[in-house]
Amino acid sequence: MSDKQAPEPAGAPRQIPAQEGLFHQPDSPDDQPYLIGNRCRECGFVSFPKLITCPRCIKKGTMEEYHLVRRGKVDMFASCNAALPGFKAPSVQGYITLEDGGRLWSLITGVDPDDVNAIKVGTEVELVIEKLREDADGNEIMSYKFRPVAADAKGKD
Ligand SMILES: [Zn+2]
Repeated sequence: MSDKQAPEPAGAPRQIPAQEGLFHQPDSPDDQPYLIGNRCRECGFVSFPKLITCPRCIKKGTMEEYHLVRRGKVDMFASCNAALPGFKAPSVQGYITLEDGGRLWSLITGVDPDDVNAIKVGTEVELVIEKLREDADGNEIMSYKFRPVAADAKGKD
């Protein structure tokens, strides 16, 4: 990525989050992405996206904003040959359980959808923010995805 401190020329495509407040997009090479969910201060339940009520305690007012950890493992996955408008097919999607207990459904990137051995249950993955699609003006609509952790990066963060 180029240095985002530099002013962008007029008319250049912009990177726009698919939804505000869902994730943090890094703005420098030292910065890391994270998902913005919440966590119950009574029982520790982690939710993404945010919930008003903790589904474990069934209490209101116990959920507080929480930045989920970036690493997790694939719980289950599927190669999808159909796509919603604006999405690409085929794609790989799956449930990811994060190291802090958060669990979410996500696109999985960096994997060949036609290679059934590309990932497996238990594959270690990490959060990335990538282009999801382009809008009518050519702007990049950005979203969260998970990709397998490179072998040489395992154990580091
Ligand atoms: Zn709770």
